[in-house]
Amino acid sequence: MIELRTPAEIDAMRPAGAFVASALVALREASVVGVDLLKLDSLAAGMIKKAKATSCYVDYHPSFGAMPFGKVLCTSVNDAALHGLPHSYRLKDGDLLSLDFAVSIDGWVADSAISFIVGESETSAADQKLIDTTEAALAAAIVAAQPGGRMGDVSAAIGAVCHAAGFGINTDFGGHGVGRTMHGDPHVPNDGRPGRGVPLRPGLVFAIEPWLMQTTDRIFTDPDGWTLRSLDGSRAAHSEHTIAITEDGPLVLTAR
Ligand code: MG
Repeated sequence: MIELRTPAEIDAMRPAGAFVASALVALREASVVGVDLLKLDSLAAGMIKKAKATSCYVDYHPSFGAMPFGKVLCTSVNDAALHGLPHSYRLKDGDLLSLDFAVSIDGWVADSAISFIVGESETSAADQKLIDTTEAALAAAIVAAQPGGRMGDVSAAIGAVCHAAGFGINTDFGGHGVGRTMHGDPHVPNDGRPGRGVPLRPGLVFAIEPWLMQTTDRIFTDPDGWTLRSLDGSRAAHSEHTIAITEDGPLVLTAR
């Protein structure tokens, strides 16, 4: 069921969005060479506690997860695309790291993700293009998320940017409605046709999350039961914001 939020409810979602945004900035700064993924998760847990927020991940147990997630931060390194379960791994120079983070504050959820290259000396042009393309796709999707439009406009904007850059798109996982819980209706496919799908009415709040892999559009689940990896071992990137459709256009609740 799609629920529309009042302007007052959208205002009430701002603290969660601002917290997720600031936490991702701090976690990115903490993601230096030699830092363990479990340390990043514990840093995130400390931020959640200090902010009196509630993790959306720790008890999350959908049909595609082998067990409750058990951590508060998704840490997807290199060929890991989505749902990276933090484990004991020390970041190396040139690693491509994606952090996905969702919490609720005062009962309202915000969900956002960033990808970046760890360290400074081993920046790969191919990795940077992958990251830049997911960010450009997210930016184009936000521009397309106008009241009076349709969800297909958002999906088509993502697809156009990714296809133009030469990437295949896996549409098994995409964006989703955001509200009292992390995943609600409507689904936000990462490719589609303009003018189709759910009407973009003021009050609709959803996450947009393009993700790409360098040379495949196929994934498999790691033996850890959660982490989704590219089938051919090529690297992946992921960008996500939670937005609200307002009378004045899209409002990015997780803007950094
Ligand atoms: Mg997310």
